[in-house]
Amino acid sequence: MSGDPLRLLAATSNRGKLVELRSLLADLPIEVRSLAEVLPTAPPVVEDGATFLDNALLKARAGVLRSAMVTLAEDSGLEVDVLGGRPGVYSARFAGEGATDAENNAALLAALEQVPDDRPRARFRCVMVLLDPRSGGEPIVTEGRCEGWISRQAKGTGGFGYDPLFVVGAYGRTMAELAEAEKNRVSHRGKAMLAMRASLEALIARRGAAEP
Ligand code: IMP
Repeated sequence: MSGDPLRLLAATSNRGKLVELRSLLADLPIEVRSLAEVLPTAPPVVEDGATFLDNALLKARAGVLRSAMVTLAEDSGLEVDVLGGRPGVYSARFAGEGATDAENNAALLAALEQVPDDRPRARFRCVMVLLDPRSGGEPIVTEGRCEGWISRQAKGTGGFGYDPLFVVGAYGRTMAELAEAEKNRVSHRGKAMLAMRASLEALIARRGAAEP
């Protein structure tokens, strides 16, 4: 049985996500490699899917095709009920292509300006895909959600993206006010990873058995 860690490509160029994925996998024998490390010159994947699942699959398949490594991809975003589920798959570019987090947050507040509800209900969703080039192309898919509401006032300095405006229902604090471990316990990404753990552990065991 090999003692080498599993080399895994985390198919994201979002630094905030990468930090969280590394932290969520820290206790497993996995060496997380980023896109910047493994495929520094690869063009970004065009995320033109209609759903989180479509986009996560696009990123996972591109990662496997280009690197031949076991690849973990995820697509995530914010759904605000009163906005009909927007920004949804457009979360990263709600204020336009290449928008900064600050611009997206400003766009979200502008979209909610005429909404009287002072706690507009919202959730983060994350669809995660694990793809092993040796598995015949069959992806393993998990999902996590985190329910809450949107605050009109940004609070906190942690996390990334919409974290300063998203109040986690279970805590009554914004995601940006949570410590990393607190966010990981309740976040959409944390829950999707929890559901993914058994598959990762099985993959590690299979690899270990196959590579003396
Ligand atoms: P994508 O999955 O790369 O399309 O981007 C997801 C976008 O959703 C990010 O750019 C953020 O704007 C938002 N998002 C996803 N997860 C989080 C989170 O944990 N906190 C804050 N914003 C998030």
